[in-house]
Amino acid sequence: MPPASLLGGHLLYSLGEEEHAELGRHLDGCARCRAELAGLRDVARHLDSP
Ligand SMILES: [Zn+2]
Repeated sequence: MPPASLLGGHLLYSLGEEEHAELGRHLDGCARCRAELAGLRDVARHLDSP
């Protein structure tokens, strides 16, 4: 699976239920993606309040 695109979709709430569950399971065992998701959330926050 391509975690990066899943992370982006997660932020945009465009993931299906199964994809969302799959991403959650992946994040449980992947600190790198958890860190990346935290970074993406930081970017999204900046985009929300320019
Ligand atoms: Zn990962």
